Amino acid sequence: MAGAMRRHGCRRLLGTHLKDLLYTKHCVLFDCDGVIWNDEKAVVGAPEVVSLLKKHGKSVFFVTNNCTRPRDSYLHKFSRLGFSEIVQSDVLSSAYCSAVYLRDVAKVQDKVYVIGCDGVYTELHEAGVPVVGKEPDVPGATIYDCPLDSDVKAVLVGYDDKLNFLKLAKACCYLQDPDCLFLATDRDPWHPRPRGRVSPGTGSLVAALETAAGRKATVIGKPSRFMFECIASQFGVDPAHTVMVGDRLETDILFGWNCGVDTVLTLTGVSTLEQAQGYRDSPAPEEAACVPNYVVDTVADFLPALNEERKENPAN
Ligand SMILES: [Mg+2]
Repeated sequence: MAGAMRRHGCRRLLGTHLKDLLYTKHCVLFDCDGVIWNDEKAVVGAPEVVSLLKKHGKSVFFVTNNCTRPRDSYLHKFSRLGFSEIVQSDVLSSAYCSAVYLRDVAKVQDKVYVIGCDGVYTELHEAGVPVVGKEPDVPGATIYDCPLDSDVKAVLVGYDDKLNFLKLAKACCYLQDPDCLFLATDRDPWHPRPRGRVSPGTGSLVAALETAAGRKATVIGKPSRFMFECIASQFGVDPAHTVMVGDRLETDILFGWNCGVDTVLTLTGVSTLEQAQGYRDSPAPEEAACVPNYVVDTVADFLPALNEERKENPAN
């Protein structure tokens, strides 16, 4: 019925419901920023939740659009913040998945012009993808005379806190070639920063280039399905037995919807319960995709059920 209000989703996940969910799901996907940590502080209880899930035999993966670090740097951060027994294959960042896409899907032989941080450069280098963009510009170079590399056949845009006009201009020039691939690590619009500040996200940089190039980028990170396809192809994960835990409705929850997995919104990050309920109560059909199945205040809400299950199954 046109204009009918949705009333499903946003269910509080507590007690028996939580135990039932954990029983039926064999794989748990966590976003990182705003879910298991904020900046350099772990969400209280998050390391224990991850550890207990693993002890219960669940597969745990971390799917993050944050492309600023390579995966080995993530391992250091996990360790520093008290998470134990995390291995590199548990971590899927948009930088790593962009490298996988360029190597295994696009099968690029030519060079990729990168706008991004070290995380992107390192992952592409480790995947054997030829990269340009990191080298310093010729002193005094302008958009009229800066050198361009005729071997560039793809442009990849990620988060870049050193972005300047010359970099954007070069990318625009490469994208004039209709055969030049145009990829983005993600479309996150902005990021929360300490003391109430915010910074522009990759999505804002991608929007500038899309406007200039007159075409849309292919997005590798959430909410695109590709990160899930990376996990499913390597580890045989079944969407029906998977749950995605995230803090951003338009990224994490939409990702879960796109991949056919149940979703949990945790309220320690960007999105609020009111925003989730707003999507739920909206008459716009397309907004159903941003409605989480479940809501928790924090991932620490998983602890009682996990500890209880441990007592019931002391052999685990
Ligand atoms: Mg997040």
